[in-house]
Amino acid sequence: MAGKPPAGDPVQDAPEVAAPQHAAAGLPAIGHTLRMAQQQMGVKRTALTLLKVNQKDGFDCPGCAWPEPEHRHKAEFCENGAKAVAEEATLRRVTPDFFAAHPVSDLAHRSGYWLGQQGRLTQPMYLPEGADHYEAVTWERAFDIVAEELDALTSPDEAVFYTSGRTSNEAAFLYQLFAREFGTNNLPDCSNMCHESSGSALVETIGIGKGSVLLDDLYKADLIIVAGQNPGTNHPRMLTALEKAKAGGAKIITVNPLPEAGMERFKNPQTPHGMLKGTALTDLFLQIRLGGDQALFRLLNKLILDTEDAVDEDFVREHTHGYEEFAASAREADWDETLKATGLTRDKIDEALAMILASQRTIVCWAMGLTQHKHAVPTIREVVNFLLLRGNIGRPGAGVCPVRGHSNVQGDRTMGIFERPAPAFLDALEKEFGFAPPRHHGLDVVRAIRALRDGEAKVFFAMGGNFVAATPDTDVTEAAMRRARLTVHVSTKLNRSHAVTGARALILPTLGRTEKDLQGSGEQFVTVEDSMGMVHASRGRLQPASPHLLSEPAIVARLARRVLGDNSRTPWAEFEKDYATIRDRIAAVIPGFEDFNARVAAPGGFTLPHAPRDERRFPTATGKANFTAAPVEYPQLPAGRLLLQTLRSHDQYNTTIYGLDDRYRGIKNGRRVVLVNPEDAASLGVEDGTYVDLVSEWRDGVERRAPGFRVVHYPTAHGCAAAYYPETNVLIPLDSTADTSNTPVSKAVVVRLEPK
Ligand code: SF4
Repeated sequence: MAGKPPAGDPVQDAPEVAAPQHAAAGLPAIGHTLRMAQQQMGVKRTALTLLKVNQKDGFDCPGCAWPEPEHRHKAEFCENGAKAVAEEATLRRVTPDFFAAHPVSDLAHRSGYWLGQQGRLTQPMYLPEGADHYEAVTWERAFDIVAEELDALTSPDEAVFYTSGRTSNEAAFLYQLFAREFGTNNLPDCSNMCHESSGSALVETIGIGKGSVLLDDLYKADLIIVAGQNPGTNHPRMLTALEKAKAGGAKIITVNPLPEAGMERFKNPQTPHGMLKGTALTDLFLQIRLGGDQALFRLLNKLILDTEDAVDEDFVREHTHGYEEFAASAREADWDETLKATGLTRDKIDEALAMILASQRTIVCWAMGLTQHKHAVPTIREVVNFLLLRGNIGRPGAGVCPVRGHSNVQGDRTMGIFERPAPAFLDALEKEFGFAPPRHHGLDVVRAIRALRDGEAKVFFAMGGNFVAATPDTDVTEAAMRRARLTVHVSTKLNRSHAVTGARALILPTLGRTEKDLQGSGEQFVTVEDSMGMVHASRGRLQPASPHLLSEPAIVARLARRVLGDNSRTPWAEFEKDYATIRDRIAAVIPGFEDFNARVAAPGGFTLPHAPRDERRFPTATGKANFTAAPVEYPQLPAGRLLLQTLRSHDQYNTTIYGLDDRYRGIKNGRRVVLVNPEDAASLGVEDGTYVDLVSEWRDGVERRAPGFRVVHYPTAHGCAAAYYPETNVLIPLDSTADTSNTPVSKAVVVRLEPK
């Protein structure tokens, strides 16, 4: 029963329910921020730390990847950024005494919230085979243990090197270099579970798997469509950018199965007007059924094609490929089928079309609501078709804007954390470092779980993250991890993945973003890339949580020296001593990073080149932006069932649970809730307050069950329910993945509700 607190866990899940709110931020957010920060850090440390978040001479927020504006406020962070910082800069500590008091068998039954609240890890800890207690070890011994297990493998491909999206560029570059010198491309990352579908669709259609807009473009847009995204919780400072865009005359269409407070009204705490009244952000709300987005954009494309002078013919002729085939299939879009797939009315779609046709500069933003469907890749391709039709790529105020969820998830991929690296990247690595990197593809997240499950992978090494809580099919994934010979986690705080171990396990404690990083050549900084391709420095100011911590680059460098020994000509010791030498090598290998050290020294850093945005050049197979045509798909809903999407609460960041409230949705003191439209609840015979098991149904016939959820009447789209992950990850079949990208389908799980 993954995620359920045991009897005896002081954290009890007892949800209280009030009406959802209709405005985000404002005074309550400030109060909440300060309260949480002071609980973890105390008053002085709170002031010292928060005033350095996202400042040009400070550190990058460890939360999401939303970019910083050129002119920054003194307080350039949101409520959830402050929570992320407070959790990292907490004064609470997890020492070897803690592990002596809490065997793994105890930790395995604690809630994720309880584990996170114990504080910062302070020493390397080792769980010997057959033992129930982690014990303190030296770093040397820890590296010896990893080396022993890696040496014992019959192939380097029996090792998996996972990365979470907070890892800095420098650490990520070293990590992939180590894995490839060791001999594998098994570099799954959290992108596999979030924006892989965006990357797959964008590389094929515009030639680069990243967004094509900068912050300034949002301010110049006439129309911004926010689809499948909840910025008020997941990228809160985006609301400030949307408010500014509206002040400049932009209109906003929100496409989502749930109304979300942030997109309804934003009460900007930085301005008197914001505090008092706020700004209504959404001009048109399209409350779409889960997975109906491809059908919606397909019909909009047909309607644009049918409107005289609506297509930017010069752009289409000069810069695109595949228009005729696309147009022929788009013209077949059917109103009735679209209304069925989307649950929208004809009037709403006509209203959207009028706004689209009135706009000369349109941006589409999206997040997991689009990427975590079986047909996510064709859906995002359809969004690209929509933008290409009216020339909305490579023009100020227009473009694609996939909003990334973790602070350096985009940068890690740029640095080569990818199981399917491009040949040009491997060529550059080979030339620079003088070894032959493996050319065959490695394992992504889903394939890595299968390999562990089937005994084909034996060592699992995680650079950050909470793998078993982030991944689907919890019971299968946890059983797979338990089959490993060795599991290793580089971490700042305790989480469930430390309690679900291989035969042997290591916890390697590392520095956080907020902390000073002192190495042989002096104080170091690291760099990150935000959602819009801006690269900048991050410098921590606090004393490390413990004298025993190593930075991530130092951990990789020492591990590489120990494992690769004299077989490696890479100057690992020099890299550890001076991170500028890592950046010199990044500059030599990765296009766009030329003169990296000098350019990142500029306050605010620099912007990576983006050919479609900068010069309307599309580095695709055809040399043009590609229109695509694919059959329209949408999830089918059997009678008596609901389509479930997993989502975050407001007291949550990815798998980190900061608290048990979801303020904007009116939920307090509990996480095991399922949000159901009252009419659906009535037709299923359950009332608000009924406790149910959620049981997922998939073609493999396996019954997956998440027990004990309180039904909450909520204005979701008809047929669509929502509940928090990681508690509901247990319902997502490992083999239920998006076509092409292999991303787990977390936004369209067919479930039945079984009253208790
Ligand atoms: S918007 Fe994202 S990056 Fe900015 S402060 Fe909030 S969590 Fe951090």
